[in-house]
Amino acid sequence: MPAKIIDGKKIADGILENLKSKVKSMNEKPGLALVLVGDNPASEIYVNFKEKTCKEVGFYCERHNFGKDADEMELLNLVTQLNNSPKIHGILVQLPLPKQIDENLITNSILPHKDVDGFTAVSLGHLFSGNTIMAPATAMAVMRLIESTGTRIEGKNAVVVGRSNIVGKPVAMMLLEKNTTVTICHSKTEGIAEKARKADILVAAVGKPKLITKEMVKEGAVVIDVGINRVNGKIVGDVDFENVKEVAGFITPVPKGVGPMTIAMLMENTLKAMELAKKI
Ligand code: NAD
Repeated sequence: MPAKIIDGKKIADGILENLKSKVKSMNEKPGLALVLVGDNPASEIYVNFKEKTCKEVGFYCERHNFGKDADEMELLNLVTQLNNSPKIHGILVQLPLPKQIDENLITNSILPHKDVDGFTAVSLGHLFSGNTIMAPATAMAVMRLIESTGTRIEGKNAVVVGRSNIVGKPVAMMLLEKNTTVTICHSKTEGIAEKARKADILVAAVGKPKLITKEMVKEGAVVIDVGINRVNGKIVGDVDFENVKEVAGFITPVPKGVGPMTIAMLMENTLKAMELAKKI
């Protein structure tokens, strides 16, 4: 039986509708600052989409654009200003940043309670110690999509392909927190196919089209495709969707899978950041 398609767009739309009605009755609106540096076309598309969604749900949104020659000091000054702004509850600096700028330095200059991307060392430290305050939005999206299937995940085998600090590692930690047994595979892993075939939950976060083939997937597995790749003008994931859907139990499409859920999770984090600010 072909896999059930996990409709990330529909689930995300439901979350955004909920947020919209919550925000309507609020006097103070959650505020998100979006910072874009340089002229990376993909980054520009992501920031445009985040800005549009912010406005749709009724959040306050500020956008700050810098040219590709921007220097660290300019950015640090802006982040300090946003850290101190009572209207701004969440700060997102779109990555990657141009080479002359130290990404770590800029990311970690964001106050942890305004870190809606969950990328600061403090946020990741909390996540890794099982005491999450702000988790990376994409990792949250992956978890919500897995949970949406209703599959019991405790005690199951999960394989995460990809070990970046912003996707692979946080996803693995969040799965571990839910009592799955997690294997992390990466570019140097030997025998990925054999490991992947044992997965009840398989998450691909690599950035290589069709890396995950039908032969790598256990029958009935939940397959979550985080990858975003441009192939002949089309967006595709890391999973060979057409063939893998013949064996998987559940599968996310690309587009309309993890992408829209990530934006919805970012909006949830911004609301959470506003609530955190009240406690500080
Ligand atoms: P990254 O480049 O930082 O990390 C890629 C990881 O893949 C690395 O850990 C590397 O070891 C591993 N890898 C590379 N080649 C491999 C191979 N042949 N086999 C196994 N592992 C291999 O990327 P990232 O930032 O983690 O993003 C991964 C993908 O997810 C990208 O396509 C990115 O565009 C996408 N992404 C999507 C969203 C979303 O909202 N849908 C958000 C973030 C990233």
